[in-house]
Parts: sequence; C-alpha cells; structure tokens
Amino acid sequence: MTPARRTRTAPSASTSGRSRKDRTLSLVVPMHDEAPALEALFGRLDEALGGLGLRLEIVCVDDGSRDDTLAQLVGRAAQDRRLRIVALSRNFGKEAALTAGLDAATGDLVVPLDADLQDPPELIGEFVDLWEQGYDVIYGVRTDRTSDTVAKRTSASLFYRIFNWLSDYPIPASTGDFRLMDRAVVEALKRLPERNRFMKGLFAWVGFRQVGVPYVRPARIAGTTAWGYRKLFRFALDGLTAFSTLPLRVWTMVGALAAVLALAAGVFLILRVLIVGRDVPGYASLMVVVLFGFALQMIALGVLGEYIGRMYQEVKGRPTYLVRERIGFED
Ligand code: UDP
Ligand code: MG
Repeated sequence: MTPARRTRTAPSASTSGRSRKDRTLSLVVPMHDEAPALEALFGRLDEALGGLGLRLEIVCVDDGSRDDTLAQLVGRAAQDRRLRIVALSRNFGKEAALTAGLDAATGDLVVPLDADLQDPPELIGEFVDLWEQGYDVIYGVRTDRTSDTVAKRTSASLFYRIFNWLSDYPIPASTGDFRLMDRAVVEALKRLPERNRFMKGLFAWVGFRQVGVPYVRPARIAGTTAWGYRKLFRFALDGLTAFSTLPLRVWTMVGALAAVLALAAGVFLILRVLIVGRDVPGYASLMVVVLFGFALQMIALGVLGEYIGRMYQEVKGRPTYLVRERIGFED
C-alpha cells in the first residue's frame, strides 16, 4: 500500500503562503455516552496539541447522552475557556452530531475527532504541516485495522468496494471522519442541504486538494461502540443511495434482459408445441419462472422504496439536528 495517496501534484510550501500563526484550530468531537473516556481524552489533547502553535477551540457535541457526559463537560467548561458545548435535544446519530459540530466550529482549521481516542490527536501536527504546504483536506488512512473484528473488517472492505464501484465520487478505502479541513472546505460542506449526512461521501464530493496520511487505529479506550451491525447496515445503505442511482436504474436493464429471455422461452415453447405437440406437465419449470420473476419484482420494489423513503425524508425538510443548549460560545 502506498503510504500517502496524493490526488494531485504536491502544492509547494513557498507558494501556498499559509502559516499557522494566529490561526485557530477547532476540534469537533461528537459524544454519545462518553463519560468514561473524557478524562483521558482531554489529557491526551493537552499533551498532543499544546505545542502546535495554534489557538485551540474544542467543540463538544453531546448527542443525547444518557450518562453524565454533558454534566462533566459543563464542569470542565467552567475551567477551560477553549471548550464549547453544543447539546442536542436528543440522540441524532453521529453524522448529525458531527454536522452540528461543524456548523458551530469557528476555527480556520477544523478536525473532527472521535471521543474514544481512536483518532490519535498526535497526528494533527502532521496534518497542520501538510495544510501549510497547501493541502485543503488531510485525511487519516488506517493502515492496520486489527483493533476491529474480522467480521467488521470484511464488511467494511466489501462496503468500500461496492460504494466505489457504484459512486462517481470514490472514497479512499479505510478513511473515517478523522481529517483536517481548511475553513473553505467546511463552508463548502455547510452548503450541502441534504439531511442524509453520509459524511465520508460528502467529504469526497466537495473535492479540493486532498491528501492521505497513514496511521494505526487503536482500540477504543473506554466504553463500547454504539454501532451494531443493524446500524452499520443502515449506514451503508444511506451511503450507497446518497451517492448512486445505479440500483434504481439497473432495473431497466434487468427488465429488458428478462423480457428477452421470456421472448426466447416463448418462441421455444410455441415451436415445441407445433413440432412435438402438447406437453401438459411442466409444473416445475412454471413455478421456477413465476417465483423467480416475482422475487425480482419484489427486489425492484424494495429498491424503489429505499429511494422513495429517503426522498420523503428530504422533502419533509426537517432539520438535521436540534440544539437544546449552547455553552461556552461568545455570542
Ligand atoms: N457517537 C455519537 N452519536 C451516536 C453514536 C456515536 O455522537 O449516536 C460518537 C461517539 O461518542 C464517538 C464517535 O461518535 O465519539 C464514534 O463512535 P464509536 O466509537 O461508537 O464508533 P466506531 O469507532 O465504532 O466507528
Ligand atoms: Mg470508536
């Protein structure tokens, strides 16, 4: 595997004219029941980011936690002026929480980060160096997923393969939300009005000068993942339907093919009757054709349903998230 995938020729440092001097870095951390991880998280952030030479803003989005994540955050914010808290009115899911955080972040550089320290903050220094060289998006590429189960790794790699085959905007394999984005990129993301926030896909869609940095993804430091297989499957479907209409359009081809086969079978059957006479038995072949055709129609209907359901969501125009409280913001 190539270590850093450069999508374009490297912009040169001398021409980029970017400097971290007087810049603010916003960390955006979605949190759902992360109380056991907070102590370690803030300790690591101080260690890793203290010497970066950037002003720091930590936007914590409490995504309807049922433990005392929010209470702990509020306690910290009283001591720590870098801390901003966006408390959502309920659990909206990680993608929505991330969107809320990106909307609230004010920094020149923005980095979404998981609260469980699976995105090592030590990498951000390297991200900032690459930003100064002129890259707009610097994303982490997981080189080693041994911290995930075999089943999760296999399903993830299968998903990337299907996604990139179907979508016109491929997402680099083994990337997550962990990345550094220039303000311009964040503004571009904010202009995308869709409610289905498949962030990886949106990140790929906006373009800009992107570059990958390999890293090893460690295991969760505390707590458990909130992503069961059901949720991951929904997530995969959200991603696929948001970035490809091929599953919709393919039925024209399937239908055409079925029609050609049916025509051939029809001609064959008629000729056979004319030549060898009537042939009443045929229950098995009849059932196969009927059942198979029926199954195909059901699948096609199901695919339509997936898209129509999502169109319905978009058309209703409900906001992606609702904020109950904002703490630590100047306004
Ligand atoms: N998260 C969230 N809302 C949810 C589920 C998760 O904000 O409904 C946050 C969670 O607190 C963490 C991040 O999203 O900071 C990643 O979640 P997790 O570690 O459970 O996912 P995984 O690393 O297994 O993909
Ligand atoms: Mg995690």
